[in-house]
Amino acid sequence: MAKVYNWQIKRDMNYPYKGKYPERQFASVFNINRCIACQTCTMACKSTWTFSKGQELMWWNNVETKPYGGYPHFWDIKLLKLLQTAHDSQEKSMTWNGEDEYNGMTIFEAAEKQKTKNGQSRVLGYLPEDKEWTKPNIGEDAPPQTTLKKDKMGFVSEPIRLPEHKSFFFYLQRLCNHCSYPACLAACPRKAIYKREEDGVVLIDQERCRGYRKCVEACPYKKAMYNGQTKISEKCIACYPRLEGKDKHITPDGVSVETRCMSSCVGKIRLQGLVKMSQDGLWSKDEENPLYWLVHKEKVALPLYPQFGTEPNIFYIPPRWAPRSYLTQMFGPGVEEAIDLYTAPSRELMAILQLFRAQREVIYRYQIKKGPKIYEKEVTLSDGSKKGLKIYNDTIIGYNEEGKECVRTTVEEPMYERPATHFNSI
Ligand code: SF4
Ligand code: SF4
Repeated sequence: MAKVYNWQIKRDMNYPYKGKYPERQFASVFNINRCIACQTCTMACKSTWTFSKGQELMWWNNVETKPYGGYPHFWDIKLLKLLQTAHDSQEKSMTWNGEDEYNGMTIFEAAEKQKTKNGQSRVLGYLPEDKEWTKPNIGEDAPPQTTLKKDKMGFVSEPIRLPEHKSFFFYLQRLCNHCSYPACLAACPRKAIYKREEDGVVLIDQERCRGYRKCVEACPYKKAMYNGQTKISEKCIACYPRLEGKDKHITPDGVSVETRCMSSCVGKIRLQGLVKMSQDGLWSKDEENPLYWLVHKEKVALPLYPQFGTEPNIFYIPPRWAPRSYLTQMFGPGVEEAIDLYTAPSRELMAILQLFRAQREVIYRYQIKKGPKIYEKEVTLSDGSKKGLKIYNDTIIGYNEEGKECVRTTVEEPMYERPATHFNSI
């Protein structure tokens, strides 16, 4: 195994190949706090890419309800258990130290110690059974049992209070993370999986693949899928024709546009970009890029299960109301800080949040023009303390790949009053 640096676990780790990094990396931030589980993203993806024979149960994009939902069933719990067993057998623990460095083993390191049943030795994983892929919405809207006081009629008699609810659920939006150290790629004995140099998109070469399903077994997020009809594996392709600006109907100028799932998001929870990478595997400093600002400067968006070690490139603003211990297991250290930053957003964060789904072209740079103060209030932080929040009606401008303005919006949505005539017209 080679040594590579994984910035999400803040240490070198073992990976079957030497690190090789693209010029730009496909990345995205999802604001969990705003998702309404309408599944518009899911259907936009399905109707574009997975509507053929053999793809009936294939959802490259899915939105599941946590803690009980999962597609395939219990994918994260199953992998966490495998990882725990590997740690137990080595008398190690899956902990993070004070500097946010992960002390435990990743799925690559655990595989060196703990072979799975069928002898897979490069990545710790498991192959879900067919039935586990059949119900993408299992557990939808189901909160865990709660010890809240109830009245004689069985209704909750205690008010639910922030900072976190005793009973909770939230929606987790999932697609391939186009990881920097893809487990699917590491496990493929045919070398059929590759990461594109121009945008870091991870693809399966359909001609080389022989359907051994090693990628399905290895991907910790279970985002490589097997097509029983064609007998080869498939996965999200990050709508690369759109990233390349090749769809003349939507990009006559040939600039990059967001994927189908991103650009159809009704809840305006998604912001997708192509971030600059440097050859040491880190994101190049680019504070005018909204994704760089959210992930590396403000640190309000966190990766999903960073301890798995694949360095995923989809980042999440964690939900305010869910228990912090559950969220820390899912997003690693930094959850409380991220939630507090979102709860009392800085002036810049408030403006950048307006860019989410404001238009279709990929935003490479933003600029803020200051406006007047419009609102002031006190909010409750994770530790129960209070903080003052001031909101300004700033204007944010986004620029596309060619440096042209592609969006201009304000923090406060303008209100239009309908004229008395044509009252019901649309
Ligand atoms: S999420 Fe899974 S399928 Fe996608 S790049 Fe990472 S390991 Fe591969
Ligand atoms: S379209 Fe947006 S709001 Fe609707 S389920 Fe998908 S991510 Fe959530």
